[in-house]
Amino acid sequence: MSTPRLEVRLDRIAHNASTLVDRLATRGIGVTAVTKATLGSPMIAHTLLAAGAVGLGESRIENIERLRAAGVTAPITLIRSPSLSQVGRVVAVADTSLNTELDVLAALSAAAQATGRRHGVILMVELGDLREGILPDDVADVARRAAALEGIELQGLGANLACQHGTVPDAVNMAALSGLVRTLEDDLQISLPVVSGGNSANLGWATDPSSDVGRVNDLRLGESILLGREPLHRQPLDGLHLDAFTLVGEVIEAKTKPSIGWGSTAQGAFGVPRHQLDRGATTRVLVALGRQDIDPDGVTPPPGFEVLGASSDHLVLDAGDRTVAIGTELRFGLDYAALLRAATSPFVPLSAQRSMDA
Ligand SMILES: *Cc1c(COP(=O)(O)O)cnc(C)c1O
Repeated sequence: MSTPRLEVRLDRIAHNASTLVDRLATRGIGVTAVTKATLGSPMIAHTLLAAGAVGLGESRIENIERLRAAGVTAPITLIRSPSLSQVGRVVAVADTSLNTELDVLAALSAAAQATGRRHGVILMVELGDLREGILPDDVADVARRAAALEGIELQGLGANLACQHGTVPDAVNMAALSGLVRTLEDDLQISLPVVSGGNSANLGWATDPSSDVGRVNDLRLGESILLGREPLHRQPLDGLHLDAFTLVGEVIEAKTKPSIGWGSTAQGAFGVPRHQLDRGATTRVLVALGRQDIDPDGVTPPPGFEVLGASSDHLVLDAGDRTVAIGTELRFGLDYAALLRAATSPFVPLSAQRSMDA
């Protein structure tokens, strides 16, 4: 098989997704499974839906179009605010989008009316992470105007934490979200059936039996399903697989070389080279993977190998005193950044491993 390739064990993805779906169901929370780290892979989307996700979340319109073209009919939410230039495409393929700007809502309304569709809208509330969100004091005004627009349907409120400022979802900010929902429903005499409380970083709060989940009834989960970790401290989640994905790269050079280079030094292609320890001569291995394919800081090499650095096309590893044959396939674990980069690289095809063995 050709390398590099990103191998995915669909049975492990299914296990992670159904475990989280079951765990959150006991709290009255449904799972919107987020596919953006897989470039909107239809086979992963089918796996997530079969495992009990109520719908899909995607950040890119191209990926949603890809899912629709592959026959995915489940509800899909665009989880990044639509670009004004894409509202027509958004109403054509996404059931719902997360929104913060009245200009965008007006454009979605016009686009929906022009094609006789209804587009669902969730207003995102700023709760301190300082990425997307309407400031709490302004939500009522935006909601009132949104509710009055033809062609769009105000479905509820949402929030996103732990992405920009690292704000942790907790009893205080989640109660603020539920409180806003209740206030708006009373003041505007509307109903807000969907309250999308956050992402994988909300799992600790959501699954703690002492938490009051309030009105939150949806979480948008990506990393926790795909990699089995919570993003706040990157701790493994109980009972989940951490290794659904494996990146396979191939050795194209292996030679015993000194560990310190020679000649006068300046910057490399990607800045000042890392300081290297003098370990004497060791086996230095080049793998045909580079920054176009992975985040070199986010890959875990096999035992006995250490990542020394990477440029556009080469991953450089120290293999100690091992002998490594040219053509050897090395298998790497990935963190979220490395998964995202690999899945979106045109050089790294996704390869499904459906069998239950090995
Ligand atoms: C990426 C993203 C998610 C999913 O986040 P994970 O940490 O991968 O679960 C949810 N909501 C929004 C708005 C996102 O951008």
